[in-house]
Amino acid sequence: MNTVLAGLGLTKKYGSTLALDGVDIRVGEGDSLAIMGPSGSGKSTLLHVLAGIIRPDGGSVLLRGQHIDSLGENKLSALRRRHFGFVFQSGQLLPELPAEENAALPLMLEGVARRQAVERARRWFAPLGLEGLELRRPGQLSGGQAQRVAIARALAVEPDVVFADEPTGALDQRTSTEVIQLLTFACRETGAALVMVTHDADMAAHCDHVLHVRDGRISHHSQYTVT
Ligand code: ADP
Repeated sequence: MNTVLAGLGLTKKYGSTLALDGVDIRVGEGDSLAIMGPSGSGKSTLLHVLAGIIRPDGGSVLLRGQHIDSLGENKLSALRRRHFGFVFQSGQLLPELPAEENAALPLMLEGVARRQAVERARRWFAPLGLEGLELRRPGQLSGGQAQRVAIARALAVEPDVVFADEPTGALDQRTSTEVIQLLTFACRETGAALVMVTHDADMAAHCDHVLHVRDGRISHHSQYTVT
């Protein structure tokens, strides 16, 4: 496997709570990984540590073999903007911006001129079924459409890894399935690794691998043939 992202021996403590208790994890190019587990098991902590948002107390996070946990804050946030895409549960689009500018925002933050950034972000609108919605504001989009704009935004930077935190948590079952199919398809197409937290086994089944977390540890690892 061509490993894109690895977490090795990750630990994280909050007071006396061991949120991560020695987690090893690897994701390859175009590979998708679902993290499942009961509430409080450490899923979000693991996602945030892997994404360089929370620093681990012990262990390492490596992006293509480079330690990211030892980078200073500025370098780490630049690395996050350039190499990572994020899809959250909902409500993360800016209400005053049209869909195409929302999707182009990470590129603009990287200094790409508005026109070019919008052009690059718009490449994802047709494959994601968003054609014709470029100028709509988030309030004029359905929940599923808004999540597809969030996917376009995550992919616009051509990331190495897409992190998704309950990306279908606010959607009905049919829309969830559509969104998850598009998300896994787009990541495979671009070779981006996908790391997704979900409590929904049907959504996890769209990923190549599923890690089950319990009390900050991986309790088991299952592999699916893609459905
Ligand atoms: P999950 O995402 O599986 O619900 P979390 O990663 O959010 O689990 O939390 C794992 C454990 O760490 C829980 O016991 C939670 O209460 C604790 N925890 C998470 N974040 C914090 C924090 N910022 N401060 C204190 N405890 C925290």
